[in-house]
Amino acid sequence: MNAKVWLVGAGPGDPELLTLKAVRALRQAEVVMIDDLVNPAVLEYCPQARVIAVGKRGGCRSTPQAFIQRLMLRHARQGRCVVRLKGGDPCIFGRGGEEALWLQRHGIDVEVVNGITAGLAGATQCGISLTSRGVSRGVTLVTAHTQDDSELNWAALAQGGTTLVVYMGVARLAEIRRGLLDGGMTPTMPVAMIENASLPTQRECRSDLLRMVEDAQGFGLSSPAILVIGEVVGEQVARALRVMAG
Ligand code: SAH
Repeated sequence: MNAKVWLVGAGPGDPELLTLKAVRALRQAEVVMIDDLVNPAVLEYCPQARVIAVGKRGGCRSTPQAFIQRLMLRHARQGRCVVRLKGGDPCIFGRGGEEALWLQRHGIDVEVVNGITAGLAGATQCGISLTSRGVSRGVTLVTAHTQDDSELNWAALAQGGTTLVVYMGVARLAEIRRGLLDGGMTPTMPVAMIENASLPTQRECRSDLLRMVEDAQGFGLSSPAILVIGEVVGEQVARALRVMAG
């Protein structure tokens, strides 16, 4: 049997939002490599595993991607069951695709386990239905942060008529506002900024496109947070039942 790595989504934070498949992978893991957006509470499902933190926060310098990949390869080749645990979904702004390709090129089988991505969970926790019928015919997930600092096509996003969910936007609120306003979005478009979605520390700041930068400042919005921009933010559907473990 080929060596195998599981690329597993840990969900947005609430351990109850893990999938059964993620729990199964964790239970059989010998090595678990975790990113910093993963809630350590999910490690209760892998007390047997050696846990290696490869995150970027907490004052540590980021572990270089090449090092992470070589470490996965080494453990997998030694026959260990390796779980690479990422926040949210591994393939939504999580480099899951690139890690999977690299491992496959090195002869390692990869199994990807979906996780609930932060944008979906954050919206639901705040009573926002991203594709509310008659209000929004779609949802677009974008990152405000790119490797090469290239600009998004804000005009297309402003005019696309879908709800926008922006990841990694906290440091770029002014650019997001400028891009969308210049692109023709109405200044009164409702905006929700959701910090620590699904965690007990979750906070939510409601605003609109025109005032979002100042409102976020006054609120002290900090990362990790997602922005939801669209008419659906103006509706308030039921809040998700959130039962925290522990
Ligand atoms: N793969 C992850 C995204 C990783 S990119 C996923 O699917 O959710 C990192 C960004 O995700 C953060 O900058 C933030 O925008 C968002 N994010 C991750 N966890 C979050 C959380 N609990 N609450 C709000 N935003 C979160």
